[in-house]
Amino acid sequence: MNNNELATALTKMLTLRWSPVAVKLVKPGEKVPEKVTQPSVPLRHCQAITLARRGNSLYMPPSRHACPDGAAIMGLVPMSPKLRSGELYLLFKKLPTIECAQKMIATRQEFEAGTYAATVLAPLEDATFEPDVVIFTMYPEQMMWLMCAASYSTGERHNFHTSGYNSTCADLTVQVMKTQQMNISFGCYGARAISDISDFEAYVSVPFQQLPTLVGALEKLSVKSIPEARRRIYMPPVIDKVACAEPVGGNSVDVRIDSNQCTGCGLCEAFCPEAVIRMVTMDGKQTASASAAEKCCACYTCAGQCPQKAIQLTVR
Ligand code: SF4
Ligand code: SF4
Repeated sequence: MNNNELATALTKMLTLRWSPVAVKLVKPGEKVPEKVTQPSVPLRHCQAITLARRGNSLYMPPSRHACPDGAAIMGLVPMSPKLRSGELYLLFKKLPTIECAQKMIATRQEFEAGTYAATVLAPLEDATFEPDVVIFTMYPEQMMWLMCAASYSTGERHNFHTSGYNSTCADLTVQVMKTQQMNISFGCYGARAISDISDFEAYVSVPFQQLPTLVGALEKLSVKSIPEARRRIYMPPVIDKVACAEPVGGNSVDVRIDSNQCTGCGLCEAFCPEAVIRMVTMDGKQTASASAAEKCCACYTCAGQCPQKAIQLTVR
């Protein structure tokens, strides 16, 4: 898949509001990618991400970087003594003591000054270069599916290394480049104060090399899990139950299973919290049967899960 195909698939499956942003750090002497332009005014890295997710492709040498901290963290320029010592964090009242500031600085990832000569950013669909990382600005629900996709083939949980400081430079760019592991960030003082990220959005950064695997997993999740969760398949009956004057239960629920539709997959039996449904053999075929309907609590799990829509609940 090329950059455009990856961006199109991700945007469609995750219903992204913003383009994923391709970010590359250019080494000294390395050719500048095509179709990127220098912004007319210096920008912070977080602002450049904002512009890129809105369709702009940018080339950012040190002179175009407005944040000395971000530029130094990404190895474009030396760090100023006051930023290196942590003194500025105290002056901005972002941290209480020099010890806290120094600990925060010591535990973030940085590149040595001079490692890189520029940053380039573009909406992934337009990127003429292979990015180091791809940064998403997204809602928690979209982040959740990206996490599921990252766990899909391994089952592994994620350990994120993040803070409310140096969000897009340290936690989303350098951290991900160095570790080659996905990371999250909720933004930082600078990113929240100076870019257009909304209060309901946060960031995920993914090593570019992992993007095709994530897209493959999202395609699998899009068959059932994503559309079902987005349709809130369990929600309407729960609302009905809560709104009922009389508690639902006892003999008040009919659980009807259409044995002609049922393929015997067993999902309903596995999910039923009240052991109402059992798999039985009927005419030599495995089929679901509501053997203890009086115990049904009308949670709607079986009806929502059944891939055949074979289960119908009637609350009397
Ligand atoms: S989930 Fe549906 S198809 Fe699967 S066993 Fe239950 S009733 Fe049958
Ligand atoms: S509605 Fe809930 S309790 Fe009732 S049969 Fe289905 S899964 Fe079991």
